[in-house]
Amino acid sequence: MGKKLRLMAVIAGMDLLLAAALLWTLGILKLPAFGGGNPVLERFVSAAGANDAPGRPKDGLSTDTGQPTDTGQPTDTGRPTDTGQPTDTGQPANTGPGDGVVSEKRGNRVKCVALTFDDGPNKECTKDLLDGLKARGVKATFFLMGESIPGNEDLVRRMKDEGHLIGNHSYRHIQLTKAGENAVCDAVDQTSVMIEQITGERPQYLRPPYGDWNDNLECKVDMTTVLWSVDSLDWKLQNRQKIVKRVLKDVKDGDIILMHDIFPTSVEAALEIIDTLTPQGYTFVTVDEVLID
Ligand SMILES: [Zn+2]
Repeated sequence: MGKKLRLMAVIAGMDLLLAAALLWTLGILKLPAFGGGNPVLERFVSAAGANDAPGRPKDGLSTDTGQPTDTGQPTDTGRPTDTGQPTDTGQPANTGPGDGVVSEKRGNRVKCVALTFDDGPNKECTKDLLDGLKARGVKATFFLMGESIPGNEDLVRRMKDEGHLIGNHSYRHIQLTKAGENAVCDAVDQTSVMIEQITGERPQYLRPPYGDWNDNLECKVDMTTVLWSVDSLDWKLQNRQKIVKRVLKDVKDGDIILMHDIFPTSVEAALEIIDTLTPQGYTFVTVDEVLID
């Protein structure tokens, strides 16, 4: 195993687990309490640990956007939606038995959520997003694709200067488990070098395209892999209202939301999500603030 744990429990998730354990001990909560108690952790684990499972969520970008897929794999048809994911089960976002306990335990602590954007930088969309985030004083996390960086160095510099976290999304949008280990290392490393040349800082966080990862790669690449707990499906919906609705249905404290700053609708939706959740007491943080090793 790599030095770093591949998947991280979310602070909120840990609190929920503790709260659920306490309730269970007291006989208040019946088993299987944990099945509904910590969807964040379950989704993180299932996304990373079951690479061959048909229900594995796909980070997302369809081939029709011009992104090359070296695997020749039909991304559109092969992309499972959320089957097997607890997100679609109609689970209420903030009404579970653990929420009140968590709030009580945390006292005045605000609810945190991390917006993450993959597949950029994109000349128009990323610029609009950065403008919108700046106007709202919100920090986000960007997982950059190496091949999209040339010509967009100014946007990468802005991300750094404006306090966002920059991660690595490999060089091209391919399934890394289908590529050779050395090729994966080269692609990841090349992207990190490109980012470091602009920002002076080497990225520590990696989001593999499609969330496609395995233990062999974990051993080879010394980065912390970050998946997500709420899939906005923005690449598929491409409709501001639908994306907003989908995210708001599931979001809760400690979530990591997957979006893509290559679609105008994603940018509009992200800003609306911020404007909706902020009055509800949410603070937007970068992923390093919601992950623990
Ligand atoms: Zn992607």
